[in-house]
Formats: sequence, structure tokens, C-alpha cells
Amino acid sequence: MENSKRLQKIPPYLFAEISRKINAAKERGVDVISLGIGDPDLPTPEPIVKRMQEAVTDAANHQYPAYEGSKEFRQAVADWYQRRHNVSLNPDTQVLTLIGAKEASLHLCLGFVNPGDYTLCPDPTYTPYRTGTWFAGGEVHNMPLLEKNGFLPDLNAIPQDVREKSKIIFVNYPNNPTGAVANEEFYKGLIDFARDNNLIVASDNPYSEIGYDGYKPLSFLEVPGAMDVGVEFNSLSKYYNMTGWRLGMAVGNEDVIAGMATVKSNIDSGQFTAVQQAGITALNMPDSYYDDVTRVYQQRRDVMIEALRAIGLVPHVPKSALYVWCRVPEGHTSASFAELVLEKAGVVVGPGAGYGDAGEGFFRISLTVPDERLREAAKRIEESLK
Ligand SMILES: *Cc1c(COP(=O)(O)O)cnc(C)c1O
Repeated sequence: MENSKRLQKIPPYLFAEISRKINAAKERGVDVISLGIGDPDLPTPEPIVKRMQEAVTDAANHQYPAYEGSKEFRQAVADWYQRRHNVSLNPDTQVLTLIGAKEASLHLCLGFVNPGDYTLCPDPTYTPYRTGTWFAGGEVHNMPLLEKNGFLPDLNAIPQDVREKSKIIFVNYPNNPTGAVANEEFYKGLIDFARDNNLIVASDNPYSEIGYDGYKPLSFLEVPGAMDVGVEFNSLSKYYNMTGWRLGMAVGNEDVIAGMATVKSNIDSGQFTAVQQAGITALNMPDSYYDDVTRVYQQRRDVMIEALRAIGLVPHVPKSALYVWCRVPEGHTSASFAELVLEKAGVVVGPGAGYGDAGEGFFRISLTVPDERLREAAKRIEESLK
């Protein structure tokens, strides 16, 4: 069978590769500590699970859901954005329910990118922005996220001819994989840049409720003018420990939301209404809930930073997200280091180059395992470097 040219262009999904390596090591009897994938280990909070148990027995939920998501879920999203970020949204025109935020990049590209058009994507990056572009027949212009710029893209460095051919600029702060955050000034510049160059801003923000040391991440939509130029993707996956449930939202500019909704209604039939009802319970968790989740990850962050420094490595200290981004030791590439720690220490880390060329020289650690396992992982990494 010959794959389409489109599919031939797509590399295997990074985490599918990592999963394969983990399974192979486990089969050899290795006690693998996986710090490779950002998948919260804590269970979904009980009130959400309870709500799901009720919802699943309701026969009214057993039919096709509404394509754009239930009115109640979209209203809950609007209320949540108002309460948590002081952003006003019309649930009928500015909110679209997603089967997880991952799918949104593809839908956006299918709705707004013509063959030959460009998108502007961060490098290193969460990969669906790129692959979504390619599936739509578009080309990717990488914006390197450099340490010296605080892992923010340098918009001035984007050539004029690329700007003219570009339709979408993807940004993701708090950032996966670097853990960097963006302030209002950055977003103001981004909004001006988008307006000047006729671009849609896609702000992917699934870590918006996690902030360490008192830091509070912004929604892009909090910044004046954002609604004119863009959308934000958010997700219930990370801060409610609901990655398996597949529930997220796109919010913001009406025209963009309408285009994405048309694409989606022709591809999928929406998320199970019962999952959306449980999602409403999640969105109504008390504000103190986010502090509790944040405390767990902040403690893990501190454990990992201390352990990495103790073995002479140089990690970046994140203010949000679930990752530590760290330089590989001298003499290693990101791939050779990831290989070494898997083979000699049974520890899985994300090789920086897997997130893009500009990720070379770094590795990513996910804070989605308990403190003891993080300490054990650091100890084993230390041994493997001797
Ligand atoms: C985890 C993650 C997502 C995925 O969200 P889902 O709702 O689980 O699909 C999207 N974007 C980034 C940057 C992520 O890290």
C-alpha cells in the first residue's frame, strides 16, 4: 500500500516512538521510570467521576451529541473564562467543544490554510501545529524559541515574504516543552503583528491554571484586541487529570470558531454528552482546587530541580506547565543522552530534538510521577553518567 504524499511527509508521532521504547525495555524486565510523556498520574477528582457515573445512565445522553457541544457545557466554559480570566465569551458563537485540544490545530488548518500557505510554528514545539499544517497542504515556518529570548519567538526575525504567505501563528504559553511563560507585553506585540500581517493567532493554553511561586498564567484573550485576531485552545486534560476523557475547548474570534465548527461537523460527531456533563462539574471545581494541584507539581518541580543541579546539570526553573527543560551534559546530543539514560538507568526523558531542531542540546522531564520516583530517576541518571 502506498501512503499518500501527505502522510509520507508526517514523521511518526514522537510519543508513539517513546512508548515503543518503553514497552521494549519493560519486556526486558527493566523497572522503567517514564518522565517522557506529560500525562498526569493523579486520578480525576471524585466529584467528576461521580457525575460521569450518573450521566452515563441517562438515556438522553445515548444519542448523538450536538456537534458544537452541549449548550450547558459551552455556557460553563464561558462562565469559567469569566471567573478565572475575566474574559467574556458568547457561548453560542465564541465557544466550540473539542474532543481534546490536540485536534484543534488540524481543524484550524483545514479551515484556514490553502495548499502552499504558511503557518508560523514554534521550534521546539508541541508537534500537532506542524502536522496539522502539513495535513492541510501548508508549509511550516519555524520560529526558534531561544534561551536568550526567554523561549519567546522573535517576531521581527520573520522574513517579509514569509509573513505575506502566512495564515496562522501558533503560540503556546505556558510552554510545552520549555516551561517558559509569556507576559502581556509579548501578547500585545503578537496582536499587533497578527493585525499587521493578517494572521490568525492560535494560542494553545492547556496549562493556564497551573502557576508556581504565586505566578498566574494569562489567557491570551485577556489582552485587548485578542478577540479580533485569534482563538485560544484550552483543555480539561492537565489540571483536572482528565487526559483520557478527551475534552477541551476552542474559544475566541467568531469567524475562526465558525470555520472550525464546520470542519469538525464534517469529520466527527462531537464528544459524548455524558463526558461534557462531567466536564461541567470539573469547570465548577472551587478555586482552591487549582492551588492543591499546583502544590503537588511545585513540590515535584523543586525535587527535580534540586536533584538535577546536584548532579551538575543546568535545568530551567519553570513557572508553570508540567515540565523541566534542561541542557544535556557536555559531549551529548539530546538523542544520545536520552538513549544513554534509557539503556543504563531505565529512565525515559524527552529528547529535545524530538520537538524540533532548536530543541537540540536539551531534554524534557515530565513531572507526572511521584516525588520518590523523581528522586530515584535522578539517582539513576547520576549513576549512568559516571
Ligand atoms: C497536553 C497538551 C495538549 C493536549 O490536550 P488534549 O486536550 O489532551 O488533547 C495540547 N497542547 C499542549 C501544548 C499540550 O501540552
